[in-house]
Amino acid sequence: MGDELMQDKWHDECGVFGIYHHERAAELSYYALYALQHRGQESAGIATVDGTRMYHHKGMGLVADVFNQSVLAKLAGDCAIGHVRYSTTGAATLVNAQPLTFAFRKGNIALAHNGNLINAHQLHAFLERQGSIFQSTSDTEVLAHLIARSGLPTLEEGVKESISMVKGGYAFVILSDDSMIALRDPHGLRPLVLGQFDGAYVVASETCAFETIGAKFIRDVEPGEMIIFDKQGMRSVHYAGQNKKALCTFEYIYFARPDSDIDGFNVHSIRKQFGKLLAQEHPVDADVVIGVPDSSISAAIGYAEESAIPYEIGLIKNRYIGRTFIQPNQELRERGVKLKLSAVRGVVEGKRVVVIDDSIVRGTTAGPIVSLLREAGAAEVHMRISSPPVKNSCFYGIDTSSAGELIAARKTVPEICAFIEADSLAYLSEDQMLAAFGVEKGQAHSYCNACFTGRYPTEIYEDLTKFSLER
Ligand code: SF4
Repeated sequence: MGDELMQDKWHDECGVFGIYHHERAAELSYYALYALQHRGQESAGIATVDGTRMYHHKGMGLVADVFNQSVLAKLAGDCAIGHVRYSTTGAATLVNAQPLTFAFRKGNIALAHNGNLINAHQLHAFLERQGSIFQSTSDTEVLAHLIARSGLPTLEEGVKESISMVKGGYAFVILSDDSMIALRDPHGLRPLVLGQFDGAYVVASETCAFETIGAKFIRDVEPGEMIIFDKQGMRSVHYAGQNKKALCTFEYIYFARPDSDIDGFNVHSIRKQFGKLLAQEHPVDADVVIGVPDSSISAAIGYAEESAIPYEIGLIKNRYIGRTFIQPNQELRERGVKLKLSAVRGVVEGKRVVVIDDSIVRGTTAGPIVSLLREAGAAEVHMRISSPPVKNSCFYGIDTSSAGELIAARKTVPEICAFIEADSLAYLSEDQMLAAFGVEKGQAHSYCNACFTGRYPTEIYEDLTKFSLER
């Protein structure tokens, strides 16, 4: 909560990793989770299997807090899956930390999930009526129950049958006693990549995990694809037929690490292109371009390059802020921004400053950033946002505010500008955002932009805005 107040951003909720058949499976998972830490900081976990027995360890906090040498040494076996979590559904408690592990009549199973099952509420109620007893409030457990109930002879068939019953945006990695299964939702809303390390197969939410362990990227897992790794090797099944691809554009805008490549595009390069197109669309007569660290730096560099205005480091981020000590009132919120960010007086004093941010969600920190820059002597502060106004909630695994809390759902751009007390404010348009991927105006594309446009790529369930599995 504290971090949200200091940084008015949506949160990606999870990162997943899996490795099949390597003697250092647990240790490599640990390093991979380190690389995926930006996708979730509330809990971390690893499950391993040695052919007969499953081992797991999970805890609240960062990967570095949850694991140490002796814990990793106990995670025996040559197959592992790992998870970092930021809760979207279900409370931030250990019982919801993943991988979730279960023993059922066909053996052991562990699940790691990034995303959100939008019909989990209905399935949960149905399963409870049928006698299922849930041990967590996580939507992930719904899939586990469906798999356990499947009467089909193999895990592969059981997963295929069960996954066809859930809807939403997801990437799953599932570990059993003798196989690992990776799958991506039919629209490819959440990312998942496949690689190889030292003869072993690896899957991860982002390629930065591969870079960290030295794995070779093979390809993105395709939307609606299920990959099975077992003693026979690797095989791919398309379980969902033809669906319109709709990869989350927010992965590029904010969630993913800049060094990751997703579906053929490097995240830093796309952010830089957003900045260039923003400079073309909304130029400013100014002396210096700065970015809100860290996620807006690439776009700020792009804006500066395109506008031929010098790029400078005008805001410094304090990296050592705890997450949970700030309570939600306006005064502490503003102080929170000052604890998190400092303006570099020597860069902004007496200057007309263009400040680039990747998004404004509730609008709670943009104003304090403007005032921070003015207090440091900026003559003018022009805010430029490298994505369109966020007007709609996300139902695909992102921790979003309800639409009513989104400032752009309630106010026009001039009203937001007045609210944050900037000299000017402008956003990248949807057309220009898509142009960064080479999509021409009006052309069909393969991205989800629903939080900007309200055009959701899947059916949306009526009670979704009230959706919660918590009691
Ligand atoms: S609604 Fe927005 S945040 Fe959610 S998946 Fe679509 S683009 Fe991403």
